[in-house]
Amino acid sequence: MNAFDRPLPNPSRNTTCDTSQVLKESGQREVFCGLTGIVWLHRKIQDAFFLVVGSRTCAHLIQSAAGVMIFAEPRFATAIIEEKDLAGLADMNDELDAVVARLLERRPEIKLLFLVGSCPSEVIKLDLPRAASRLSKSHAPDVRILSYSGSGIETTFTQGEDTCLASLVPELPAQPADADDNLLVVGALADIVEDQFRRCFEAMGIEKVDFLPPRRAADLPAVGPKTKFLLAQPFLAETSGILEERGAERLPSMFPLGAEGTEKWFRTAGEAFGVSEDAIERALAPGRQRAHTALEKYRSLLGGKRLFLFPDSQLEIPLARFLQREMGMELVEVGSPYLHRAHLADELDALPDGVLISEGQDVDRQLDRCRDAQPDIVVCGLGLANPLEAEGMTTKWSIELLFTPIQGFEQAGDLAELFARPLVRRLKLEV
Ligand code: SF4
Repeated sequence: MNAFDRPLPNPSRNTTCDTSQVLKESGQREVFCGLTGIVWLHRKIQDAFFLVVGSRTCAHLIQSAAGVMIFAEPRFATAIIEEKDLAGLADMNDELDAVVARLLERRPEIKLLFLVGSCPSEVIKLDLPRAASRLSKSHAPDVRILSYSGSGIETTFTQGEDTCLASLVPELPAQPADADDNLLVVGALADIVEDQFRRCFEAMGIEKVDFLPPRRAADLPAVGPKTKFLLAQPFLAETSGILEERGAERLPSMFPLGAEGTEKWFRTAGEAFGVSEDAIERALAPGRQRAHTALEKYRSLLGGKRLFLFPDSQLEIPLARFLQREMGMELVEVGSPYLHRAHLADELDALPDGVLISEGQDVDRQLDRCRDAQPDIVVCGLGLANPLEAEGMTTKWSIELLFTPIQGFEQAGDLAELFARPLVRRLKLEV
């Protein structure tokens, strides 16, 4: 169903984007489910294990998404729900308890176990939160056991991270009453990016900085009314809401993609913590300069190229802002599975007026618009990329944006290169 259609944008205008004019669609969608998040989350929390309670399809999805990452001791697995379980002929809870006991006996290094719900576990109404609470009691204090849903019903693949982090928030210790203000960065970042961010906050004089998720289960940061938090990813609506319920204050900002987004993100923290303009400028100037230098070499390649983003990762709005404002690309359509207007307010304000933003998906109609527009590059999920390439279009898999470190000044050039590379490859093929 389409709320309305409106003309394609005039890229020469560059005033504030009017979000009351968003094309809302609901229809068939082409997205991966939230189980996909395990692929980057298991690398981040190094003593956690993700046990999907699902079908062979779920196991297959995780194995394919994880690709070549075959470990001697992997940190994710699937407890397969067999047909007899689906038919109610076996007690799934007993089987789950036995699987978890065997796993924890064999892998004593696991300190945090996530039971990850799937479509099949939800269909048979397996109560994973209750199972997690029961198992936590029997395996305490060595292992903490939590649950979250990675089910594909009405979700996007990045929502798995949101539900996972949301399950962690109630576990965060309460801040002592006499605690100093602390800054919490929320969203999984590559370790290298986290280290760079910590150094930049220190250069601004903000010393008490925590990250969620932490690298180790024992390092859960304290949270409370003295906590101010910055979202590092735009798809963390549930986590953000639960943190606010615990008294933490969200600092509204752009997201740290590209030189502009990164600068605004750090400035938001600096201003909230009373850092002087001079100190902010001194801390940010070198990184900003390096980012501008790195971006320069991609500008001639990307500038003026027409970009179409299908809704997939929920990173589409900040990406569109970066590619249009810093790389000079022309936005044909910016699709997003959901538009969290409060979290994206600064990003939406920075988009050019008149740009076609779509929320939700009716994939056939959107494919028609894409074919009509014949953009230079299409950002989309894996399911659409191959057919579109076969039709002669140049595509970029949006899932790569989650597997690649792209946030911050030092990664701005790598982010631009992700979009330049398929264009260069296409040019070579055409020679
Ligand atoms: S959770 Fe649902 S959508 Fe995801 S792999 Fe399993 S069955 Fe498929």
